[in-house]
Amino acid sequence: MKNFSISIFLLLCASACGGASETEEVNAPTTTVAPTTTVVPTTTVAPTTTVVPTTTVVPTTTVAPTTTVAPTTTTPAPVPVDVTPCRLKQDEQFHHFSGFPIPNIRMSSTGLLRVAVLFVDFPNVNAVNSTEKIFSNNIPEAENYLETMSSGNLDLQFEPLHKWLRMSGEHASYDLSMFDNHLLFMQEAVDLADPEFDFSEIDSVIVIVDEKADSFTWSPAFTPADPYFGLSADGNVITNGVTRGVDWANFPSNVIAHEMGHTLGLVDLYEIGATSPAQHAHVGNFGIMGLIVPHTGGSLWGSMDPLNGNEMLAWHRWQLGWIEDTEVFCATNSLTSIEVGPLTNNAATRMLVIPVDSSKAVVAENRTSDGYDQNLSTGGVLVYLVDTRINTGRGPIKVQGDFSGDWHDSSTLLQSGERITVEGHEIFITSKVGNNYFLEISNP
Ligand SMILES: [Zn+2]
Repeated sequence: MKNFSISIFLLLCASACGGASETEEVNAPTTTVAPTTTVVPTTTVAPTTTVVPTTTVVPTTTVAPTTTVAPTTTTPAPVPVDVTPCRLKQDEQFHHFSGFPIPNIRMSSTGLLRVAVLFVDFPNVNAVNSTEKIFSNNIPEAENYLETMSSGNLDLQFEPLHKWLRMSGEHASYDLSMFDNHLLFMQEAVDLADPEFDFSEIDSVIVIVDEKADSFTWSPAFTPADPYFGLSADGNVITNGVTRGVDWANFPSNVIAHEMGHTLGLVDLYEIGATSPAQHAHVGNFGIMGLIVPHTGGSLWGSMDPLNGNEMLAWHRWQLGWIEDTEVFCATNSLTSIEVGPLTNNAATRMLVIPVDSSKAVVAENRTSDGYDQNLSTGGVLVYLVDTRINTGRGPIKVQGDFSGDWHDSSTLLQSGERITVEGHEIFITSKVGNNYFLEISNP
């Protein structure tokens, strides 16, 4: 059963994930924007004075650290005032981005965004399903996931046109592997809808093909690098969208959430073109941009909610403005007792970032069995390396530690008493108090 299911997964991911990037790479920008200044963190704010806590944090709830170093002197780390050394600039101008800033041509990650949802069939494939049912299978869970990950910053408003739009060609005549074809396909769908739909305020378009159109074996994001290649309707140019193919039938909302992640500017975190487990050796089940099917505590298909176990990485949320600068601890010195709260909690430091150089940073975040991670078999501290010079689908983010990439593997999450060294920077998990971890870092 396991092997069979993995085969299914590989087939689906190879089509859904890898193909998307082919389309995306076609439109790599021709002009590269050279960074004018490289931020070298030579002068950083050193915490010369230790902040002595006036109140001792009493761990009301249990979870005694096994290798103690009890936080008797819980020195709350100084509140960072400058995250600039950690905010990696996007030196290489790839099509999707691991650094800052994400170009404006990608869909805004904050505020009200209006997304048209169109349904298409073909002369040789006539749809019989209700578009309302297809909408409810694909959209609400994806909407809830993205809005939850945004901590209330993003408000997606999906606007379906509930009718089947009949395309002019047979379904196999549309080959979306080339961007130009994808553009023509989506523009035809938009044109068919236009008499009955107002596109003037639309930010993104999702086209869902009928399930019998089996030549649409993948679901590429539509992310042109220039508005010239956008969709046009009602005086508006739309530069973001998704074509929903027939892949990943059991996880439709995961596909929409992943592909909309690209329209927000995010990279693929699996290895394009590889097979499992190497395909997921970079980040495994952590984050919707890697393994679309989440880790679910040992059960292949997991709970009824397919998005469970898939909290978006803190780095991606910071890129999108969904984690505030004030929630980021940017550490440029060796420090003790950095307290990191759960990623799912908006009321604490949610990520530790250690800048390595102008393109690389080490990140640590606290993953608890909560929220979309509720099916993680164990919680712990996830440590990964971000490198903005590495392109999408080639490992721009790599989880550190003993990690197979298998989707059952969450053993890479560090526990109290464990330590790891990445690029010469050591992170030591000194203790856990309540749901918070205390970290100690030694920078070279
Ligand atoms: Zn992708």
